Amino acid sequence: MKKIVLGNWKSVGDTASNVVLLTALAQHAPAAGVELGVCVPYPYLPQAKAILEGTEIGWGAQNVSPFGAGAYTGEVHAGMLAEFGCRYALVGHSERRQYFGETDELIAGKIDRLLAANVRPVVCVGETLAERESGAWREMLEGQVRALVTRLGVDKCARAWFAYEPVWAIGTGRSAEPRDIAEAHAFLRRQLVALGVPQRDLVLLYGGSVKADNAQSIFAVPGCDGVLVGAASRVVGEFAAIAAAA
Ligand code: PEP
Repeated sequence: MKKIVLGNWKSVGDTASNVVLLTALAQHAPAAGVELGVCVPYPYLPQAKAILEGTEIGWGAQNVSPFGAGAYTGEVHAGMLAEFGCRYALVGHSERRQYFGETDELIAGKIDRLLAANVRPVVCVGETLAERESGAWREMLEGQVRALVTRLGVDKCARAWFAYEPVWAIGTGRSAEPRDIAEAHAFLRRQLVALGVPQRDLVLLYGGSVKADNAQSIFAVPGCDGVLVGAASRVVGEFAAIAAAA
């Protein structure tokens, strides 16, 4: 199993800075055991494709419509992402759950559309600080994965990648400790397996303030298949340094 290193640019970027970032990234062929990719805002997909095509580095989106083609003004459907060669799309990021009211129902619909278009869904789950501190994080994570398996079934969930992203670690500079990541990953694995998803199909990433200087300790967490990197994926050299630690 390759170690996965995915960037999430969030709603950040402009054509000029993207060229610098993508061109520098394209110089860094990922090591044989590493899958490297960036999830960019929709308008920059052609730019990512133009610069990364022909390299080993993949590109993807940060969202997708829960509908197919049709009268859904403002939406970008999974077939469009596939046409642009997207390997992945993020789904259910906590920022979308928080600011755009995304529900389990909606997230399940998006995963379904992506799978039908052969684009890998990277499904984000994670607890808030209050849930972590009160100990309710287990219940929260269990509820998030159960909601998806119930709606989509085991086979579809087995084809998604999951990213454990504690909300309190995203964009705060405070990454979860390796022992907390190990505990949460082990818990998520147990829950998904108990729901019927085969252990061998599970892919579990960690996201939340991953940087070059903590990447090595996170990759060393047993059972951690890779990382989802936000802010540090927009820093020239930093993202490649994280990939080099994989
Ligand atoms: C993210 O946006 O998924 C993320 C993990 O952000 P950051 O690395 O900036 O915490």
